[in-house]
Amino acid sequence: MTRRIEETLHPGMAAAFEAEEVLHEGQSGAQGLCLIRNRIFGRMLFLDGVTQVTEADEFIYHEMLAHLPILAHGAAHRVLIIGGGDGGMAEEVLKHRSVERVTMVEIDPSVVEFSRRHLGAISKGAFDDPRLELVFADGARFAAEAEPRFDVAIIDSTDPIGPGEALFTEAFYTDCRRLLAPGGVLVTQNGVPFLQPEELRQTMTVFRRIFAVPACYRAAVPSYVGGDMAFGWGSDARAPLEVPVETLAARFAEAGLETRYYTPEVHKAAFVLPAFIRDLVEAG
Ligand code: SAM
Repeated sequence: MTRRIEETLHPGMAAAFEAEEVLHEGQSGAQGLCLIRNRIFGRMLFLDGVTQVTEADEFIYHEMLAHLPILAHGAAHRVLIIGGGDGGMAEEVLKHRSVERVTMVEIDPSVVEFSRRHLGAISKGAFDDPRLELVFADGARFAAEAEPRFDVAIIDSTDPIGPGEALFTEAFYTDCRRLLAPGGVLVTQNGVPFLQPEELRQTMTVFRRIFAVPACYRAAVPSYVGGDMAFGWGSDARAPLEVPVETLAARFAEAGLETRYYTPEVHKAAFVLPAFIRDLVEAG
């Protein structure tokens, strides 16, 4: 019988993924790690039973968290990634020639080691790029102690359970703001608001308090079931959020990016929110 891996992240429902093959199952540091091959999604990585990344739809999530802030900023040289152990975010960020240095802070070295071995189709050599600096540390502690100034900071975290919990706190977001250079932008993954409304509401309440320009944008990522996923946006500069579509199109062409989801028009449209998501963003 075909084995099913059930994701039970959301009380009241479970998402089941058929495993054509279980490629690995075990403990990685403090997290349970499972890799399967699924007919629709290809290789799928689960941490503590929660979907992290799949070969088939990672492009949506990674393109939307990497290209939006970088192209909106317009001159991003230094980029911080917190989490992102599979390497897919680093790969997308490193496509930008303007980026001189990417600092990726991952708490679990074994996720990186495992992904290098089994998810090469996602990281595509990013781990060997000399512009990538890998730091193995708790992202919350790094943000509290780091000196450098970043043009773009991307929080590519697990959900707010276990080690990821610290990456959803006011203290962490405040530290991230301090790490931004003038004109810098922070983006965060904030789950699927239909199923995890509190996650977005709480983050946006903090963003409204600490950033001059808080915002939220969205994209639907099929393996993160439940509809649109929400991404947080925080900056003290207005220009990146208000950059005209023509400017984005010029930067996109200049960067020579080949994308499967991102377009300058999708970029602008992603900030148009359905009423129930807008209400969560403005609540509190
Ligand atoms: N795209 C995914 C999602 O939305 O579920 C996230 C993928 S990425 C694999 C998440 C990474 O965050 C994991 O490798 C995990 O080890 C890392 N992580 C969790 N808590 C962390 C922390 N406090 N500091 C740094 N990295 C952390």
